[in-house]
Amino acid sequence: MRKNLNVVLIVMDAVRADHLSCYGYNKPTTPFLEELAGNGVLFEGAFASAPWTPPSHASLFTGTYPSRHGVDVNENLYLGEENTTLAQILATTGYRTFAILPDAHLSSARGFHRGFHDYIEVFRLPHFKLDFGIIETSARNLLLGRDKRSSLINKLVKRWLTDNAVRDIPFFAFINYKTAHNRYQSPWPFRRRFEITPAATQDKKKLDYFSEAGGYSYMAGKFEMSEEDFEVVRSRYDGAIACIDHRIRDLVRFLKAKNLYDDTLIMITADHGENFGEHRLAYHLFCLYDSLIRVPLIFHAPAIFRGPVRLPHLVSLTDILPTLMDLLNLDPVIRQDLEGKSLLPLNGHAYHTHVFSEFARPTWMLRNLAARFPGNDFSHLDRGLKCIRTSEYKLIVGTDGGEELYHLPSDPTESHNLIDERIEVAKVLRTKYQDWVAAHQGSRSSSPYQEEDALILKNLKELGYV
Ligand SMILES: [Zn+2]
Repeated sequence: MRKNLNVVLIVMDAVRADHLSCYGYNKPTTPFLEELAGNGVLFEGAFASAPWTPPSHASLFTGTYPSRHGVDVNENLYLGEENTTLAQILATTGYRTFAILPDAHLSSARGFHRGFHDYIEVFRLPHFKLDFGIIETSARNLLLGRDKRSSLINKLVKRWLTDNAVRDIPFFAFINYKTAHNRYQSPWPFRRRFEITPAATQDKKKLDYFSEAGGYSYMAGKFEMSEEDFEVVRSRYDGAIACIDHRIRDLVRFLKAKNLYDDTLIMITADHGENFGEHRLAYHLFCLYDSLIRVPLIFHAPAIFRGPVRLPHLVSLTDILPTLMDLLNLDPVIRQDLEGKSLLPLNGHAYHTHVFSEFARPTWMLRNLAARFPGNDFSHLDRGLKCIRTSEYKLIVGTDGGEELYHLPSDPTESHNLIDERIEVAKVLRTKYQDWVAAHQGSRSSSPYQEEDALILKNLKELGYV
């Protein structure tokens, strides 16, 4: 296809598709993404391969499911060198590559930096530093409220583009915004537009606690949340999504100002969604319901395709790498067997009949929760999960042998388990699922243990994982 096409891959961390106005949400959270989708391609049925950050990004970067790339398998969180990554492929074919690595999970200590000529580990940046406008950023944070440093990220991306976006040398930039991750904080202009003020009868401290890290305590039954309580928390989340939408608008404006826009493919997605009390769950982890695995996916490239095109077909984040290889006409040597498919031509023809998603038994997280909430019973969460999803049904299989079957068109909240009612449907899906599991037996090699430094531990704690 087109030579020298720049690629910007944006992950809106923890943003579920059904909270985006371009996906039919009833609040205007993403006016700019609506514009982009209006001239691009929007995938209505995109699914993450995992319900949390490391394995999902690893699938995005390798075109494979967790059972093959090995992140979140047997407590491994390192992206092993037996995987060739998207950034490595693009770097070896002449791209200049750059990444914003937002947190410890996606750091160089975990192998996610491979293939990037330049990368910035945002969690390692000091909060106060006297260059490239960090003073200004800090002042903005003080005046406007914190937002997990998305305005700083934009500054860093622009600075890198100014120095590195050279005519005839295409670039690949990977950007992750964590603004919508819990605590759901966004600057005041976005909060003001979306945040519902708690009623006098609501406990604001409880809502703050839930937003910050108290969701696990809620999951253990320590306190209750009413539908009105969740509405307030979700309104904070909506403000955070609107903030990301604004940052993407700002970046695109910059690309236009630098005459890079016409030759750039922008891909926007999320690594997973977020739970707000569905199935008595908070945040992400512990389930494979659509609240966590259905994600947005939008392509925009004025030089290649013009929309609006909306495709209802099933696609997986494992498809991103094969699609880019196809689009850029690349034929690299790749160590792993790809599991995703090219989404070209962009018409849904010959796309998947089913996709998968996986969540390993969360032994490490349960250890952390036991330490944080002594005496609480989290045993009901102690199981790994895998699912197969078609456009109509989802079969979820637990390591405890439990099975759930849902009919999504009639039961979008996955509340009514049909496993004992639709025996034939379950049987067909179970066979496909078992074939897929069998194909992954023994496909994993071990990865080196990585030392956790103090900044990594501090960051994981801030994210609520330790
Ligand atoms: Zn994430």
